[in-house]
Amino acid sequence: MSRPFSVEFLQVTAVSKLSPQMRRISFAGDGLAEAITAEPDQQLKLYFPRPGHSEYPPPAEDFGAWYQGYLSMPEEVRPWMRSYTVRSYDPETCTLDVDFLLHRHAGPATRWAIDAQPGDRIGRFGPSAMFGRRIPLSTRLAEADWVLLAGDESAIPAMSTIIEACSRPMRAFIRSPYEYPMQTWGALDLHWGDPLDAVRGASLPAGRPFCWLAGEAGLVRDLRRHLVGERGIARSDIEFTGYWRSTLTQDDPPTAADLADAQELLAQG
Ligand SMILES: Cc1cc2nc3c(=O)[nH]c(=O)nc-3n(C[C@H](O)[C@H](O)[C@H](O)COP(=O)(O)OP(=O)(O)OC[C@H]3O[C@@H](n4cnc5c(N)ncnc54)[C@H](O)[C@@H]3O)c2cc1C
Repeated sequence: MSRPFSVEFLQVTAVSKLSPQMRRISFAGDGLAEAITAEPDQQLKLYFPRPGHSEYPPPAEDFGAWYQGYLSMPEEVRPWMRSYTVRSYDPETCTLDVDFLLHRHAGPATRWAIDAQPGDRIGRFGPSAMFGRRIPLSTRLAEADWVLLAGDESAIPAMSTIIEACSRPMRAFIRSPYEYPMQTWGALDLHWGDPLDAVRGASLPAGRPFCWLAGEAGLVRDLRRHLVGERGIARSDIEFTGYWRSTLTQDDPPTAADLADAQELLAQG
């Protein structure tokens, strides 16, 4: 039995197409049942092999030591690390689903997802519902009078888990060329299109909101500025994550704007 924060392999068991741009990849792997909880928006780090290097530093129980070893690997063999979201977990079949957006600038994670076949293996660290959080997301959702979700297509997997888990009235604004079915037991007002324009033009409910923003970092920044500056929403009522950066990969160092975002998160405690 593995510990929740160990490094393990995942093995692809099935691949299906949700849209021309979204691929659902199902995985089996040791320790998933212990690592996954019922919380929405659980994040995980996935390790994608360099061409010709299908094996990794072996799975390990001590992530700290493993990560030091990982960092000391020569770059040409070190697997690429990318962040993804648990779309769902089926305890009956012990299967984890992750939805990969096949974006047009296809970096290593996307290239891997395009070619993925049952039997392929990648490494994982996590998942965790508490990466970057002090308070569980489910608590924050339950304490709000209403919930605003906004972002782009890469945030659809996480947003879907929030929409499925939340019983508060929700407004969701998603930029995506395709519309995806969303299931909820809360009241959901869903807008497909430019989220910034739509949020700017929206009449928002009264009461205390909880806002969750994710997607391209510049979009997330503009949404946050609007909500704080023009709507007067408390910074502490907004959770935000820049999922990706235009023209930069996840391996590139942080920009001044990324560092300012990190400071903002630290200031929120
Ligand atoms: C906490 C978290 C959870 C995430 N969950 C998911 C998820 O469940 N599903 C998912 O599909 N993505 C998710 N993402 C986003 C994903 O990690 C990034 O899109 C990642 O950059 C993809 O890696 P890559 O190797 O394909 O591209 P990279 O090598 O990182 O980048 C290559 C090029 O592609 C561009 N690019 C990167 N992402 C996108 C994009 N989404 N659209 C258009 N261009 C892009 C970059 O600007 C760069 O020019 C998540 C990110 C975070 C931080």
